[in-house]
Amino acid sequence: MSTRITRLEAPPELRLWSDRCRAAGMEVGLVPTMGALHEGHRSLIRRARAECDRVVVSIFVNPLQFGPGEDVERYPRTAQGDLAMLDEEGVDAAFVPGAAAMYPSEASTTVHVDAALTSILEGAHRPRHFDGVATVVAKLLVAARPRRAYFGIKDAQQCAVVTRVAADLDTGTTIIVCPLVRDHDGLALSSRNVYLGAEERRRALAIPRGLSAAVRAFEAGERRAAALAALVRRSMEASACGVDYVAVVDPTRLSPVDAAAPGCEILVAGRIGRTRLLDVIRLGIDEAPLGAAGAQEKTSRA
Ligand code: AMP
Repeated sequence: MSTRITRLEAPPELRLWSDRCRAAGMEVGLVPTMGALHEGHRSLIRRARAECDRVVVSIFVNPLQFGPGEDVERYPRTAQGDLAMLDEEGVDAAFVPGAAAMYPSEASTTVHVDAALTSILEGAHRPRHFDGVATVVAKLLVAARPRRAYFGIKDAQQCAVVTRVAADLDTGTTIIVCPLVRDHDGLALSSRNVYLGAEERRRALAIPRGLSAAVRAFEAGERRAAALAALVRRSMEASACGVDYVAVVDPTRLSPVDAAAPGCEILVAGRIGRTRLLDVIRLGIDEAPLGAAGAQEKTSRA
């Protein structure tokens, strides 16, 4: 257990801590997470440490963003290991509220982002998910008033939603979108990967394999979005990986494009058993997740 990190358990404590930082002339960076921290989270924390005077990481499994029948109860919780990682990374404060501190029983305000952005893609499969995300992020931004808040492109639609929330509510926070970090075999790191058995994990690799095929096709001049998406879809289907969607989109509005251009993103949501997996590639920016020979060393394990 950490001895150095300031532990904050309720929004007023977070506000006080942050007020004090700002009063001392320091810029605060916020990294919101649901815990079960891995190298993807670590990359956000390092970026925040490099750019801000003080860093607070929130760890909160936000019940509002889980639908009925989703995995809120079994979502991995690794509090001791998480705090050890924050300590190792020189994080200044951990915000670790309980659900009652964030949502007292009388609370009746939620934040809703227009359906044009929140009813498509993830929103089509997880109704009201993004209202839950928007509400918790708005509360964190109000309490911490960070100069910058850090999010991962892996959750590309979430990035688009929180960027709108931060701007529309005049929070004064800049949303920094950080690159996706992959495991040694090319799979996008996710707290939910612990749900996958060995055979399921092999099937899940159809996602980075399909994205690699799409990246190579794009590099070879293929611009038809439908053809790029088909490469990913076919790879997933060949491994019995359920396809919720494969979409080639414009990065700001997340609207589908017919012709892919550099900067467009391929967003993927797949299912292996009960486990949902997200992935994303930025065309013309990201390398193929898997090298020509197959898996490629991308990062050391957490
Ligand atoms: P989560 O704890 O899953 O809610 O994620 C907290 C933050 O970490 C979100 O902004 C995620 O997009 C980001 N994140 C999760 N996985 C990765 C990854 N593999 N690479 C980069 N960022 C990630």
